[in-house]
Amino acid sequence: MKAVRLEGVGSIALREVGKPAAGPDDLLVRIEACGVCGTDRHLFHGEFPCTPPVTLGHEFSGIVEAIGTGVSGFSVGDRVTGDPNIACGSCPHCHAGRINLCHNLIAIGIRRDGGFAEYVVLPQKQAFSLPKDLKPTHGAFCEPLGCCLHGLDLAQIRPGSSVAVLGGGVIGLLTVQLARLAGATTIILSTRQASRRALAEELGATATVDPSACDIIDTVVGASGLMPGGVNVVFECAGVRETVEQSMRLAKAGGTVVVVGVMPQGMKAEFEPFDLLFRELRVLGSFLNPFTHRRAADLIASGAIEIDKLISRHVTLEEAAAVIANPPAPGEVKVLVVPR
Ligand code: NAP
Repeated sequence: MKAVRLEGVGSIALREVGKPAAGPDDLLVRIEACGVCGTDRHLFHGEFPCTPPVTLGHEFSGIVEAIGTGVSGFSVGDRVTGDPNIACGSCPHCHAGRINLCHNLIAIGIRRDGGFAEYVVLPQKQAFSLPKDLKPTHGAFCEPLGCCLHGLDLAQIRPGSSVAVLGGGVIGLLTVQLARLAGATTIILSTRQASRRALAEELGATATVDPSACDIIDTVVGASGLMPGGVNVVFECAGVRETVEQSMRLAKAGGTVVVVGVMPQGMKAEFEPFDLLFRELRVLGSFLNPFTHRRAADLIASGAIEIDKLISRHVTLEEAAAVIANPPAPGEVKVLVVPR
């Protein structure tokens, strides 16, 4: 079969590899779609640990082609989505229910072969069923949506809350939609690209801000700003120093900052601990998708999340390596690799 193989830092190519077989507790899944994530680019550039050679792709869904002898509850022909993050179940974090912090976490598409291929082997415990009539490309959004759901859970948004989302990529745009569903009545999205701001407004943002054209702090929390005094919850979804620093200033006293964006290891951000203390901010990191994949799949199946508008283009397996090796095109939100 064809698979997009990361062979080392800066080296990625489409290769012909053997078609994998399902072990006793596995499903063999024919990939319908697999999303390109910023992490795939970080892996290509050696900015995130992994174990090449490996087939990339951790945001995938497809059709069950074969099942192992020990599998129950799934049949050949089912549509499924895979939670790529395999926790060991036996380390102290897993025992404490913090599976995203597992010491021995192995992610499909990072440490074992993933979904930029014709087929992937998916352990049954990582598989979640999707409706037969779901659009084949929509299941690929369960993983990023599951990560955003974890951030939402940590934030504890209540009906009537005010929210700011910094960064208008797919994570920010999914978070805008979840904040709306959670009952936030003010949702401010900050991102530099006009097309993304327009999309955010279609998806539920009540206001958008171009942080390169104004002083965002003044525009949001200033006396005549969008939310004088600040918002209840800020989601940092850009992963850059500026937005991390802005987050602390956009949250109102007693508010919450959820850091979802991944900053390069070693990068520092500046804020005043006195300010955090004096305004009693809750600052939380949100990592991966612990126990949220089923809810993400159900939300997508229900149609409550707008997916089609987030898909910028479909590419083939033949085109995938070049997409991963290059920065995203302007305006692009999510590129999906569709094998056939
Ligand atoms: P993305 O497509 O790169 O979106 C982030 C966007 O933030 C950028 O494209 C950029 O859009 C915007 N941005 C950059 N600088 C900004 C600034 N100063 N002010 C406002 N916006 C700014 O990435 P994504 O896929 O949405 O992911 C977002 C972040 O979440 C990444 O860091 C990713 O690694 C991380 N992530 C975390 C988890 C987790 O479990 N915590 C899971 C998945 C992804 P403009 O050009 O429009 O400004």
